[in-house]
Amino acid sequence: MFDLTGRVALVTGGNGGIGLGMARGMAKAGASIVIAARNQEKSAKAADELRALGGRVEIVAVDVASEQSVKDMVKAALDHFGRVDCLVANAGVNDRKPPQDYTAEEWKWILETNLSGPFYCAQSVYPAMKAQGGGKIVTIGSMASIFGLPFAAAYASTKGGIVQLSRVLATAWAQDNIQVNSILPGWIDTELTRNARSQVGGLHDRVETRTPAGRWGKPDDFEGIAVFLAGPGSDFVTGTAIPVDGGYSVMGG
Ligand code: NDP
Repeated sequence: MFDLTGRVALVTGGNGGIGLGMARGMAKAGASIVIAARNQEKSAKAADELRALGGRVEIVAVDVASEQSVKDMVKAALDHFGRVDCLVANAGVNDRKPPQDYTAEEWKWILETNLSGPFYCAQSVYPAMKAQGGGKIVTIGSMASIFGLPFAAAYASTKGGIVQLSRVLATAWAQDNIQVNSILPGWIDTELTRNARSQVGGLHDRVETRTPAGRWGKPDDFEGIAVFLAGPGSDFVTGTAIPVDGGYSVMGG
């Protein structure tokens, strides 16, 4: 159920944070990994870490906001391994400010990266998955897929949208044996939220107090869910959005 030997996982934004956590879990379960991101130095370091776990790892440069760059990424992954069994469309960005203060440029940058990017990735990988008889697509939502965050108009719009996009893909591609699911992380300690803690006063303590588990999440907390959603254990699971949040989304009061 949880053996990924012989499978290939392509992880956008896999060179750090939650993406690297998921890649680590899948590598430990036997998968070969393609790390795709912009910063090649950071990707090379992440690849070394993953290779030490024993598997084959390749790195590919991509800007997910560019459709052509995404097409090139998928071609490179197929050139390396001949197949892609699991796409983890994880790359994402945020910029926090009141809705009235976003410029059109900032709005488009976040939408292109967080929502169009995963769409380009899914669309580009679809023909190979269909031809090989199936596959897995994992997208990354957020607590902002569920709640209104006053400082995240663009980000929350993409994270609501990504859940709906995943449901659409799940229904469209079930006949091709492709399962599409979203993960909804709670508040996780990564570069992304280190910026948030400097931009949003009191955030660190508020998250700790509101999270039933009493702590911020870590990238390692995503190893298990990635293995489940990439492997045969989830073959009849599709169109769902699974919180990995220490109970944040069910905490009343
Ligand atoms: P990080 O900032 O640590 O990682 C983001 C990753 O995305 C980096 O690897 C970065 O690599 C890559 N990336 C950003 N823009 C692009 C781009 N245009 N093209 C290709 N790669 C890109 O953040 P997290 O690990 O926290 O975030 C990962 C995902 O999880 C995101 O979708 C985020 O929205 C989501 N999430 C995070 C939460 C948290 O609390 N941390 C909570 C909820 C959701 P590089 O710079 O090299 O391109």
